[in-house]
Amino acid sequence: MPTVVHATRRGWVYAPFTCEHCGHADHGAVYMQASAGAQAGLVQDLDDSRDLALGTAHGNMEQAGDELIALAPCPGCGLRDELAVRAFVARAKPWLAGGGVLVSVGLAGAGYLASKDALFMGLVVTGPLLLIGVVALVVGLAKRLRSLPGGVVFRSVDPRPWAGLHQ
Ligand SMILES: [Zn+2]
Repeated sequence: MPTVVHATRRGWVYAPFTCEHCGHADHGAVYMQASAGAQAGLVQDLDDSRDLALGTAHGNMEQAGDELIALAPCPGCGLRDELAVRAFVARAKPWLAGGGVLVSVGLAGAGYLASKDALFMGLVVTGPLLLIGVVALVVGLAKRLRSLPGGVVFRSVDPRPWAGLHQ
C-alpha cells in the first residue's frame, strides 16, 4: 500500500543580486518554507522517500527564494527588475482575462433574460458561469496581490542572515 511522505524545509535562501537600473551589486537573502511529498513505493523504505521529499522541498524553496530576491526592490535605487516583475504579473493574467470573460458573458446572459422578465431563470442559467468567473478573478487577484512580496534582506542593509552562515 503506497504511502505519501511529506517533508518541510525551512531556511534562508541566498542569491546574488545586481540592479539593472543603477548597477548596484549585492547579495539577497530570504527566509523560506517549502513542503513536498514523495510516494513511498514497495522497494523504497520510508527514509529514502523522506530524503526524496526533502530534496524536492529544498528545490522548491531555492527556486521560490531566487524568484523573490530577483523581484525585490534594489536597496540602492529602490527600483525593481522590470522583466522579473512582468514575468510574475503575467502569470496572473490568464486567470484575470478568463474570469473577466466568463463574468461578462454571464452578466450579459442574465441581463438579456432579465429584459425578457426572466431574471430568475437568467440567474439559474448563468449562475454557474458567474461563479466560475468570479472564482477565476479571485484566484487571479490573489496571484497578483502576492506578486510583489517583501521579506528579502540585502547584505548591504542587514548582514544578519549571513552571520550564521558557515559555508
Ligand atoms: Zn538600483
